Formats: sequence, C-alpha cells, structure tokens
Amino acid sequence: MKKKSISLFFFIDAFGWEVYQRNLFFLQDKIKDTRRLETILGYSSACDPSIISGLLPSEHRMWSSFFYSPHTCPYRWLRFLRILPKSLFNRGRVRYWMSQIIKKLHGFTGYFMIYNVPFNMLPFFDYCEKRSIWHEGLVQGKTIFNRLDDKGIAYYVHQSGTSDEARFVRLREQLSNASIGFAYVSFGRLDALMHAKGNAGPQVTELLHWYDQQIRDTIATAETAYEEVSWYVFTDHGMHNTTGSYDLISEVEKLGLKHGKDYVAFYDATMGRFWTLTDKARTALTGLLSKHSQGRLLDDAELKQLGIFFEDRMYGDLIFLMNPAIQIVPSYMGSKRMPGLHGFHPAEADSCASLLSNRSLPDSLTRIHHIYRLMERDVLN
Ligand SMILES: [Zn+2]
Repeated sequence: MKKKSISLFFFIDAFGWEVYQRNLFFLQDKIKDTRRLETILGYSSACDPSIISGLLPSEHRMWSSFFYSPHTCPYRWLRFLRILPKSLFNRGRVRYWMSQIIKKLHGFTGYFMIYNVPFNMLPFFDYCEKRSIWHEGLVQGKTIFNRLDDKGIAYYVHQSGTSDEARFVRLREQLSNASIGFAYVSFGRLDALMHAKGNAGPQVTELLHWYDQQIRDTIATAETAYEEVSWYVFTDHGMHNTTGSYDLISEVEKLGLKHGKDYVAFYDATMGRFWTLTDKARTALTGLLSKHSQGRLLDDAELKQLGIFFEDRMYGDLIFLMNPAIQIVPSYMGSKRMPGLHGFHPAEADSCASLLSNRSLPDSLTRIHHIYRLMERDVLN
C-alpha cells in the first residue's frame, strides 16, 4: 500500500541563482516554479540555522562561528601550547586533528573546525555551533527537526561526515520502504569544487549533471512508494570568483594597538570583526575602516536590515565587510586566496541563492529563511 505523501528538501551547498542560470538543463522538465532568494550575510554557520528554523541570526543568535568570550571559552587550556613551535601548528593536518581532539574532549556534536585561527588567539573566542544543529538544536528557537520530533513524525536528515553519494543511497533506502514523511539532505561537493575552481566551467556542469541524475533517481524511488511527492532543490548562497586579496591583518596591526588589551579581532575570509576594549582602539579602528578602499563598516541600520544586529555586540562592535570578490588573505579561515568564495554582500548577484520545485512557490518567498515556511506548509499543517 502506498503511503500518502513525502516532502524532499535537497540542499546543494552554493548552488546559487547565477550558477543555476548557467546550467538551466538542471531538472528542467521537472521544475514547476523557481525563485531567486536573498542570502543572509555570513557563512553556513548563519544560513543553515536560519533555513531550518525560519529565524534570522539576530533571533536564533548563530552568526559567525567564533565570538569573543574569553571567560566561557571551553578550550582555554590551549594557551599552554604557546610554548610549542609555531611551525607545528601551521600544518593543516595538525590543525585538523587538533579540531577533532578539542571536539571529542569537550563533547561538541556540532561542526567544529579551528581553521587557521592562530593558537594564541583561540582562547579569546568561544564557538557558536557546539551542538549539532541537525540532531539537537539551535542556541535559541526550534528547528523543523525539533518540531517533527514533538509531533512524532518520522524523517530523514543527513549524518555529518558522510559523502554526498552515501546520503543519496541512505535516503533512497528510507524512501523505498516508505518509513518517513519528510527528508532534508545537505550536499557539499559543489561548494568544495567551486571554492577550488571557481563558479563556472566544465567540472561544475559535470557535477550538476551528477546531482541532476541522483535527484531524478531519488524522486523516482519516492514516486514508487508515495502517492504524492513534493520536492525542493535549494541552497543558502551563491559563489563569487575572487578577483583579488588584501592583507587586512597587517594593516590593522600597524595601528600599534595591543591585541587583547585595546581590542580583539577575528578575521573571517570576507569580514573583519572587532571588539573595541578602549576608546583609543575604537577611534583608531573606526578611522582606518570607515574610509577604506577595500571594504566598508556596516552600520546598525544595515545590520538590522540584514538580520544580523546583536544588541550585546556578541559578534563584534565593528563589522567590516570586504568589497565583492576581494578576499582577506591571510585570514583566520585560510592562508591562501581561493578561486571561489562566498560571504560577500547579499545584494550582489553572485551572492543570491536559488530554489527550484515541482510545486508552486508563494510570492512572499524572497529570503533563504523563508524556505522554512515550505517545510511548515508541507508537514506541520
Ligand atoms: Zn563554502
């Protein structure tokens, strides 16, 4: 006997609107409606929680991964490693394993990576995503998964650390025996490829053909077990090709301020975030960053409009965003310029996200956190 209905939410990381426009073959004969969606300024650490809760970062309080909070920093003990040679910790492998060790030691279930954050800086920062947003929840507010659990509705959500291929296989297993009413699966290969190669080219198109086929097969499997199949293919942001890089760290350090005494800084790949601890630092940093050729300070009105204003300045007193396509190099996220990068202003065309479906999409769907409304419409009502 066929089970009534299923909703499939396929998240392809970085499958932005502009990427889609260059690959319109994608599920072409199956799509009923599409939308270009505004992303949320930030990275997956901000976008994923918003999509699965319908809330903006200012509401769920998850924006960038690291925030200044030396008194709650769980891995303060890292400061004792300062005596070890710096060169040891600059190796990617060592940093990967250190991340895994910290994660185990402190029982973090969320995505945790220390990236390129200098070891002597880590004790200044706490980490936002300590718990799995998929399997546990957010800092504030409920996710679609929390709500499905409350209602006792069975669903499938990807397991961290598994390949895209394994995720499709696992989902199809669940669909063929009609054991679920909802599925949300994230796929990361396209994002990784475009970071390495840029946002266009034969490899990107080839990978999208692979996703096209995988999704077709998955929909076909669902159609054999369910009477009604709704599906959505979407993402959180697009991808820019970088055109240049800028050494913001050196420039800030030339101000002669004392890090940890006058100010604390965190350098994401596209943003510098500054906590000013003295008036001197506030004056010097504002002076440098308010009339800058490579980027600009975001004022409170704009932060509010973007949904990333925090009254307690949790993520920084001053938020400096780079101009489109210019990467901060080196940053605490990486030491080299990447051909593809996201995290630039949401108003840029290459920042925009996409949403494709076999269902009609309401006109009110304009920003990525609105995708949540579709989940609500399909399974919570
Ligand atoms: Zn990415």
